[in-house]
Amino acid sequence: MDVRELKRKAEVAELLLGAARRLGETMDPERVYGRFHDLLRDVVAHDAVVVSSYDERDGLIRCDYAWVEGNLLDPQIFPPIALNRKGGGMQSRVIVSGEPLLANDVEERVQAGTGTYYDVDREGNVRKLPESGPPGTKAVMMVPVEHEGRVVGVVQLMSDHERYEPHDLEIFEGLVAQMAAAVRNARLQRERLRLEAAEAAARAVAAERERAAHVLDVVGDGIFLVDGDGTIGLWNRAAAAVTGLEPEGVLGRPAHEAVPGWSEVEARVPIAEGGYSARSVTLPVDAGGRDLWLSFVAVRGADGVVYTFRDLTDERRLDEEKSDFIATISHELRTPMAAVYGAARTLLRRDIELPPEQRQKLLEMIATQSARLTQITEEVLLATRIDGGDLRVAREPVDVVELVRSTVEAMKPQLEPAAVDVEVGAAAGEAAGDRDRIEQVLVNLVDNAVKYGDGRRVVVAVDGSTSGVQISVSDTGPGIPPGDLERIFDKFYRGDPNLTTAPSGTGLGLYIARELVERMGGRIDVRSEAGEGTTFVVELPRPS
Ligand code: ADP
Repeated sequence: MDVRELKRKAEVAELLLGAARRLGETMDPERVYGRFHDLLRDVVAHDAVVVSSYDERDGLIRCDYAWVEGNLLDPQIFPPIALNRKGGGMQSRVIVSGEPLLANDVEERVQAGTGTYYDVDREGNVRKLPESGPPGTKAVMMVPVEHEGRVVGVVQLMSDHERYEPHDLEIFEGLVAQMAAAVRNARLQRERLRLEAAEAAARAVAAERERAAHVLDVVGDGIFLVDGDGTIGLWNRAAAAVTGLEPEGVLGRPAHEAVPGWSEVEARVPIAEGGYSARSVTLPVDAGGRDLWLSFVAVRGADGVVYTFRDLTDERRLDEEKSDFIATISHELRTPMAAVYGAARTLLRRDIELPPEQRQKLLEMIATQSARLTQITEEVLLATRIDGGDLRVAREPVDVVELVRSTVEAMKPQLEPAAVDVEVGAAAGEAAGDRDRIEQVLVNLVDNAVKYGDGRRVVVAVDGSTSGVQISVSDTGPGIPPGDLERIFDKFYRGDPNLTTAPSGTGLGLYIARELVERMGGRIDVRSEAGEGTTFVVELPRPS
C-alpha cells in the first residue's frame, strides 16, 4: 500500500469516526437520516439519496428518507415495493444478495427495462417514469443495511453526472454502517424511554390504586364491588368489620354464596345508573347470629355494581325504643287516668248513696293514681332536663344512714306486704351529694326491688370504706338475664316489655338514677344471677 493510499485510509477512518460521533448524538431515528445526509454531502457528490427499509415479515421495501435534486420528499409518497427474489430491480438484488452495488450504466439498464426510476419536478411532485423514458441517472451506489446478519434495508446514492469509483463506495459503505448503528441506537433509546414512561405510568396507576384502597379502608362505611359476573371484586375493611366476613372468605366468590342474605339485598336495593342519584334501602341482615340493620346504596360503575352500606342498628334501636317509649308512656298515663276518671264519676253520682268507707277508698285511689301520674311526668321531664344538660346537683355532706332509715320508713306502708330491712355497717358515715336526689335514687331502687323481686323481702344495706359510702339494695327475685344487664341503665330500656305480666314502668328509672349518681361523683353497679336475686350498689364519695 503506498503512502497516498495510506493517507487516504487515515482520512476515511477519521471521517467515519467523526461521523460516528455526530450520528451517535442523535436520539431521534428520523433525524439520524438528515445528519447522515449532511455528512454525505461533503464527501460524495450526488443528485439523490434514498434510504429504504426492508421488512421480511411482509416482504415489502419501504422508503424512509428521500432527497432528490435538492428536494426533501415525504417518504410516504413512495409506494412500498415488493421484494423481487429473482433479482429484478437493483434494490431487490442488493437485499437478496446482501452485497453492495456500484453501477455507472443505469441509463442503459432503465432503457433495458430492468430498473425503475422516479422523476421529481420543481414543486416536488414525484412521477414514476415510463421504463422506456429518458432517465437522467447515470451512476448509482447501493449498500445493504444489516442487523444481526440480516438485511433490513438499503441506502442508494445516485448521480446524473458523476461516475462512482470503488473508494466512493468504501466511504459510502462506512457512513451507511455508522448511520445504521445510530438508527438502531436511537430506536433502542426510544424504546427504552417508551418502556420507562410505560413503567412510570404503571407505577402511577398502582400508587393511585393503593391510595384509593387506603381511602376505602379508612372510610367507616362498608364498600364492596359485585363484578359483572356476580363475584365479589372488592371488600373493604369496614365491610369486614360490620359483617364479620373476612375478605379472604368473600373475594372472588359469587356474592350469593359468600354473603348470607344476598338475594334479599339484590332484590330490594335499586341500582342507580350513571347520572341518577342513588336511593338507600335499610334492610335487616343476619351477620353471623347478630341482627343488624344496614342501609344500602348501589351504583353501577365501569367494573360492576358498587354497594355502600352503613350500620344503622343503633339508630334503629333508638328509634324503636322511642316508639316503644311513646306507646309505654301513653299506656302508663292512660291506666291511672282511667282509674281517676272512674272514681271521680262514681263520687259525682247523685243517684246512689255511697257508704263512707267506699267514698274513702275512691278518694284514696284518686290520690295514689294522681301521685303515679305525677311520678311519670316528673320522670319524663327529669330525663329531658338531663339530656338538655340543665340539671344541677348539690354536693353537700349527707348523713346517709339517717336518710336511708327515714326514706325506708316513709315507703313502708305503700310497699306492704313486702318487708324492707335496713342494715347499717360500722363504717357508714357521711357522703357528699344531693340529699333529695339520693332519696330519689333510693326510692327508685327499692320500688324496683319490690316490683321485680319476689315481693317478700328487700334489704337495704349501708356501709363505708375509705373510697366512699355504699348503699346496696338487694332482692330475692328472679334476677336479671345476663343479656339485659348492660342495657338496663339505657334510656327507655325495659326488660321483657312484651310480657303482659310485666309490671308497669317507663324504662327511665335506672337511667335517671345512674345520671344523678354520676353527677354527684359516684357510681352505680348491678350484680345479678338468675334465680339468685339482684343487688344494686350505689357508691357516693366522702365529703372532701
Ligand atoms: P322501669 O322500672 O320503669 O321499667 P327502670 O329503668 O327502673 O325502668 O328499670 C329498667 C328495667 O330493669 C326494668 O324494666 C326491669 O326489667 C329491670 N330491673 C330493674 N330493677 C330490677 C330488679 N331489682 N330485678 C330485676 N329486674 C330489674
